[in-house]
Amino acid sequence: MEYGPSVEDSAAVRDWLARRGVFGHFIGGGFTEPGAPFDTRDPATGEVLAQVTQGTAEDVAAAVAAARQAQPAWAALSGSQRARYLYALARHVQKRERFLSVLETLDNGKPIRESRDIDVPLVARHFYHHAGWAELRDSVLPGHAPIGVCGQIIPWNFPLLMLAWKIAPALAAGNTVVLKPAEYTPLTALAFAEICQEIGLPAGVVNIVTGDGDTGAALVAADVDKIAFTGSTEVGRAIAGRLAGRATRLTLELGGKSPFVVMPDADLDAAVEGVVDSIWFNGGQVCCAGSRILVAEAVADRFETLLNARMARLRLGPPLDKSTDVGAIVDPIQKNRILSICKAATDAGAELVGGAAGNGCFIAPGYLRNVSPANPGFEQEIFGPIATLSTFRTADEAVELANNTRYGLAASVWSESAAVATDLAAKIKAGVVWINCANLFDAAAPFGGYRESGFGREGGRAGMLDYLAEAPVDAAEEPAPA
Ligand code: NAD
Repeated sequence: MEYGPSVEDSAAVRDWLARRGVFGHFIGGGFTEPGAPFDTRDPATGEVLAQVTQGTAEDVAAAVAAARQAQPAWAALSGSQRARYLYALARHVQKRERFLSVLETLDNGKPIRESRDIDVPLVARHFYHHAGWAELRDSVLPGHAPIGVCGQIIPWNFPLLMLAWKIAPALAAGNTVVLKPAEYTPLTALAFAEICQEIGLPAGVVNIVTGDGDTGAALVAADVDKIAFTGSTEVGRAIAGRLAGRATRLTLELGGKSPFVVMPDADLDAAVEGVVDSIWFNGGQVCCAGSRILVAEAVADRFETLLNARMARLRLGPPLDKSTDVGAIVDPIQKNRILSICKAATDAGAELVGGAAGNGCFIAPGYLRNVSPANPGFEQEIFGPIATLSTFRTADEAVELANNTRYGLAASVWSESAAVATDLAAKIKAGVVWINCANLFDAAAPFGGYRESGFGREGGRAGMLDYLAEAPVDAAEEPAPA
């Protein structure tokens, strides 16, 4: 299979961007006239890719009104009618796979191999899976009704995939949505809006308002029935505070500092490959990144030798180059944040292996060694291609270190013994525990956190339930619409 984008794919994206000029919002089935614009850039080159509109409170109100108006008719469709739209969205995402992958890589800086082979296929899979849920909802989850209008706020690390995680279950359940993409990466959401038009999705079912945190705050303040937020723990906490005392439902998918535990009997070559998938995938800008490597002292030297050899072979480079393993950090602000945490960690006694800052938004893969649990590198979410590496002597100590965090999103455990691995997995407090693998996702598997990683689930049955309310008893007793 040929991985790289063709010259035609890149030209098609450039042509689309040039034709569109300044983007307005997508409200009520059409694009609005642009308002006050802001730039979105290619982080690999600094080039301005496009201008999009900073959403105002009035824009948000118009989008919520469109969603409110569309919701009863959308909810009144039969499950199989809603499913048809979700299937069509999945198919059209697949049809535009190359275009969307190039656009995502340009706007975000992630390697094209990842956007083409992971992000965009998972987006299609998410819509296919939820088309099934739309069809089966009434028989599998009787007695449930849609919530109404959902406000959805997403981060920049998987722009189109986070959109799919939010929009697919909401629509399957019979809700309508107003989604705000992150300010660094609004472009694939706007391309998705065009797909909604192409497939003839009823006006107002999906609305997209671009803008920064102020636009997000306006959406939280608006007349919506649910807020689904993915982003930092700080902003999540502020949103929870603002919704206190309101009837608005809330789910939060927040940060993480996930442990990656290598037991003495682990297959070390496989575990090293797991580190690559865990902390260097998407440049470590992954909420569930295995960012704290905990390795048994007995095998630590051997593990580090293998790790260093593998790290040296990773290619840092232009995101559109098919041989690039690690692309650009999304924005200079994020790059500086990563470097400042690394500096605090080394000031506190840690040693940085690799991890050199390059020109522009590039940081080489690396890890911090000699980190105690009190070191800022061990505690804080770095959200970049830098892990920490610490050792332990006993399984109990491994569990204690793994749980020594305010987060609880994910974990990865490496052992050749099923008994050892499952025992550890049960003791680690995390929403997802991978055994002998890392960062694997499936639309059918619920994903979400404990503690300061948030609450609520996305994916599978649990994810569907977070977009449904208990129906009034008499409605529950009515037969499902034909
Ligand atoms: P962020 O919290 O700064 O921004 C996330 C989104 O919230 C953006 O769209 C932003 O514009 C918006 N926002 C900012 N301030 C707001 C406010 N006051 N009110 C409403 N909306 C506001 O996070 P980020 O820097 O974009 O993303 C990185 C963080 O997201 C990391 O902490 C990461 O772990 C987390 N994340 C979590 C998951 C998960 O599923 N748990 C997935 C991806 C990212």
